Amino acid sequence: MINDKMGIVIGSDNMTNKLLADLLYPNVTMTIEDCEKKYPERNLKEGAMVTRFAPSPTGRVHMGSLFASFIPEVFARQTDGTFILRIEDTDGKRTIENGIQLILDDLKDYNFQIDENPIDGGEYGPYIQTERLEIYRAFARYLVEIGRAYPCFCSEEELDAMRKEQEEKKERIGYYGKYAKCRNLTYDEVKKHLDNGDKFVLRLKSMGDFNKKIVFKDLIKGTIELPQNDIDHVLIKSDGVPPYAFAHVVDDHLMRVTHVTRDDSYISSVPYHLELWNAFGFKVPKYAHLLPLCIKDGETVRKISKRKDPEAAISFYSERGIPEEAVKLYFATLLNSNFEEWYLQNQDKSYKDFTFTFNKMSKSGPLFDLEKLLNISKNYISKLSKDEVYYNLVKWAKTYDNDFYALITKYEEYTKNILNIEREQRKPRKDYACYSDIKGQIFYMYDELYNDIKYDWGSITDIDEIRKILNLYLEKYYDVSDKDVWFEKIKLLSEELGYAGNMKDYRDNPEHYKGSVADISNVLRVSLTSSQVTPDLYEIMRLLGKERIEKRMEAILEK
Ligand code: GLU
Repeated sequence: MINDKMGIVIGSDNMTNKLLADLLYPNVTMTIEDCEKKYPERNLKEGAMVTRFAPSPTGRVHMGSLFASFIPEVFARQTDGTFILRIEDTDGKRTIENGIQLILDDLKDYNFQIDENPIDGGEYGPYIQTERLEIYRAFARYLVEIGRAYPCFCSEEELDAMRKEQEEKKERIGYYGKYAKCRNLTYDEVKKHLDNGDKFVLRLKSMGDFNKKIVFKDLIKGTIELPQNDIDHVLIKSDGVPPYAFAHVVDDHLMRVTHVTRDDSYISSVPYHLELWNAFGFKVPKYAHLLPLCIKDGETVRKISKRKDPEAAISFYSERGIPEEAVKLYFATLLNSNFEEWYLQNQDKSYKDFTFTFNKMSKSGPLFDLEKLLNISKNYISKLSKDEVYYNLVKWAKTYDNDFYALITKYEEYTKNILNIEREQRKPRKDYACYSDIKGQIFYMYDELYNDIKYDWGSITDIDEIRKILNLYLEKYYDVSDKDVWFEKIKLLSEELGYAGNMKDYRDNPEHYKGSVADISNVLRVSLTSSQVTPDLYEIMRLLGKERIEKRMEAILEK
C-alpha cells in the first residue's frame, strides 16, 4: 500500500506510517494532541521566562550545579516567570537513593523559589522523567506516524562491527547513510522481527546533510554554525526509556520552557536537538549554554571538581556558616560582569534588584575564587542587623556548635549586644566572613569560655608595670558611664603614670614619656580580653560590667 500523504515508504514493501505505528505501539492511546491540551501555553506576562534546572539525581548539589541552578532561577524570578526543577533519571544507573529530596533540600536551603518540582508538584508534571514514559511513547508514536522515526533491530554485535568498520575507514562514527541498515526495513520485515519477539530501539529518520551547515543563536555564545545532523539517533531505547535528547525536547515543550540553560557540553548536539524540534514543528526555546565553574589549580585552570576541591561541596559552606545570600551575591558577580560595579553603588540592595542579562555573561569559564567569596561575605554580614546576625548565628550553632548554642541562647540579649558592637552604623566593622568566625572573636565576653588565658601583652610587658596600671585604674579611674568620661579617665590615668594622655604630645616629644595613652588602653584591653585586637573597648567594658572587669583585673593582680 502506498500512501503519499503519510510520506513514508519503508523498504520495498510500501505501507502507511500509521500501520507501522500501530504495529510498534499498539497500546499507546495517548496522543500528542491530548498532551497539548493537558499542558497548555502558560498564561504569563510578556517577557516572562520559564526556566528549569534539570539534574540527574546522582548526588548532592555542589558549587558547580548550584551556580547552574542559580542562573535559571534568577532569570525566572526577575521576569515573573516560572522556575522548574525536573529530574532527569532516565539513566537509572546513576540514580542515588533519596537523590531527589537531597537536591530539593539543597536548593531550598539556598532560598531558591522553585515553582514546580517533583515533590511539591505543579500543573506541568510529572517532573521526574521515568514517570513520563507514557508521554514519551505518545510522542514517539507520532514521529513514526509522520514518517520521521523507525524501528531498528540491530544487535550490539552488529553495531560494534559497524563502529569498527567506521574507525578502520576513518569515517564518522554513527548510524547514518549507508550504515543505517534498518531505515529501509519493509513492513513485513518489521512484523517478522516483532513476531519473533526481537527487541527494537526507535530511531530518528534524519533528513539532515552533514555537508551542509545549520546556523543557530546561543544566548551566551552568539551565532554558531555547525554541520547538520544526519545521524539516526536513538529516540527510545529497547526498554521504552528515551535518552536525554528526545526526553528534553518533549519535556521542555510540554513544560512550556522558554529558556534552556544547560551545560556547554551539549552545544555540539544542538543540530540534532533542532532537528527534533523541527520534526515536531514545535517552537524552539532559546538555548544558553553555560560554561562550567572553573578553579585555579597551580598554573592551570580546570573545571571545579567534587572529588578534588573541598570548596566544591556545599557542606563546606554550611559547616563554616557562610551565608547562602553571600554565596548568591558572589554568584551574581560571576553571572554578569557589570553586577559588581552596580552593587558597590547599591550596597543596601539585594542582587534581586539588579537586571541580569545573558549577553553580559562571560564567554570564558567563570573562575571560582573562595577568597573573593569570603570578602563578599564579610561585607554582607557587616550590613546585617544585630538581630539578623544573632538569628543566623543561633541557626548555625544549633547544628555545628552545641556548647556555643547553649551559651548564646542562654544570654540572648547580652549576645545581641555583643554582636551589635560597631554594627548598625554607617561604616560597620567587617570582622566575620562566616558564622564560625564569631566564637573565636567574642569568646572573651563569656566567662564560660574565658579560661586558660594567654595574654598577648603589647608594648608594655613588665608585669609590675601592668599591675600598677590596673590597680590604679580600679582604684581611681574606672568609669563607664559615658564614652567621653571613660576616655578622659584613661588619659588621666596615663598622665599620672608618666604616659602621654594625648597622642600629639607623645609624637612631638616621645622622650618625655614612658609611652602614651594607647599603651595604657592596650593594657586594659588585653587584661579583659587577652587580645590586642578587639572592637571598641568602651563597648566591651560596658557590656562586661564592673563585676567582671574587677574580677578579670584582680586575677592578673593576684598572679
Ligand atoms: N540532565 C542533564 C544533566 O544533568 C541536564 C541537561 C539539561 O539541562 O537539559 O546534564
